[in-house]
Amino acid sequence: MPAGALKNVQNQDEKYQQLKHKFNTLVQEANKGESILQRYQSFELSLLSAENIAELLEVLVFKSYLHFNLSDCRLIWFDSDQTLRQLIPESELKQFGSRLAFSNMGSDVALLFGKRRTPILRPLTASEKQHWFAGGTHVESAAFIPLICKNKLVGSFNLGSRDKTRFTEDKMAHFMAHMGLIAATCLQNMAAQEQIRLMSMLDNLTKVKNRRSFDLDIKAEVARAQRNQKPLSCLFIDADFFKKINDGYGHQAGDETLRCLAQWAQSQLRESDHIARYGGEEFAVLLPCCPEALAFEIAERIRRFVESQTIHYEGSAIKITLSIGVSTFHAEAHPALPREKVVTTLLGQADAGVYDAKEAGRNQVCFRSFSGVITAPVA
Ligand code: GH3
Ligand code: MG
Ligand code: MG
Repeated sequence: MPAGALKNVQNQDEKYQQLKHKFNTLVQEANKGESILQRYQSFELSLLSAENIAELLEVLVFKSYLHFNLSDCRLIWFDSDQTLRQLIPESELKQFGSRLAFSNMGSDVALLFGKRRTPILRPLTASEKQHWFAGGTHVESAAFIPLICKNKLVGSFNLGSRDKTRFTEDKMAHFMAHMGLIAATCLQNMAAQEQIRLMSMLDNLTKVKNRRSFDLDIKAEVARAQRNQKPLSCLFIDADFFKKINDGYGHQAGDETLRCLAQWAQSQLRESDHIARYGGEEFAVLLPCCPEALAFEIAERIRRFVESQTIHYEGSAIKITLSIGVSTFHAEAHPALPREKVVTTLLGQADAGVYDAKEAGRNQVCFRSFSGVITAPVA
């Protein structure tokens, strides 16, 4: 073969090898991209499948850690009106430790992103490690993912890696941006949903549960008492001469009195007890696992506490007393009694106790036996 032709063939072969290499690199990158995409998609699916806020936070704060093989992660949420903190019990919030922090619009997170709405990926300086990860567990590089909801920055999801080169390129930035959008939207939607659910269960004036919610609680507690064979007590509380407070000091003073009553009664209860505003100036209380003697003692404690307090309202010092009825259901004494019947009897007997207390002169506690009205088990 002539030298020129040989050179030509060699050139073409070189070009072919280069193209082949380029093609293989592209295929490798596509495969890598595909597996990264799948990893992000499965994580997003976990976010979308969370059934409540606590579960959603768990996915973000704990699952992400394992899923993306991180050495640290922090979720910072703008919560200036404390919505999220009010929706999640403090005991549940505690488990997230420093991985979950609350902030506001003017914070370091807002400064970090400025007008930028895409993730920031970079190695960290010593002071940045200290600032963002509290000097945390060997974080060398980080991805700061802006949490965007309705075009507004609502927080930041910060992922930390011990690998200095992991978060240096912005190859995966679009996956992260998408995840940030999903996480923020899920959190906001769930918080809004939870707020509506809570509002529908609470009495607007006193912030204790409303009657609708109490009706559900009493059914659930009776079922539990039947299952566990534990006594369930009920208190029915009625403010004495409440009309006189409205007439004498005005309706606003009456409202303030109701707010105080709810708070004072609640202060005497355990966390597992339920208190609800049952009607105008009436409250109902459920005491699970509580026999009659203890229920009577708790009712007395509430009565005495309220009697000792004074409501100071616009220069007036208002005193109030309570009449309280108590009744207790023992599941083992009525094994065949249907739940609905237990509910109406327990409430009815506690309510009857209030009438006894009124008759006897008010400002007192009266016990009404549950068994007294149920003479034979109802099939
Ligand atoms: P008793 O000792 O017999 O229970 O007398 P009472 O005055 O407490 O009972 P009564 O049923 O005659 O009056 C209850 C009053 O509670 C009448 C009603 O206007 C008032 N009330 C009901 N709901 C509210 C409320 O949300 N705010 C205020 N301020 N008053 C309320
Ligand atoms: Mg009443
Ligand atoms: Mg009353």
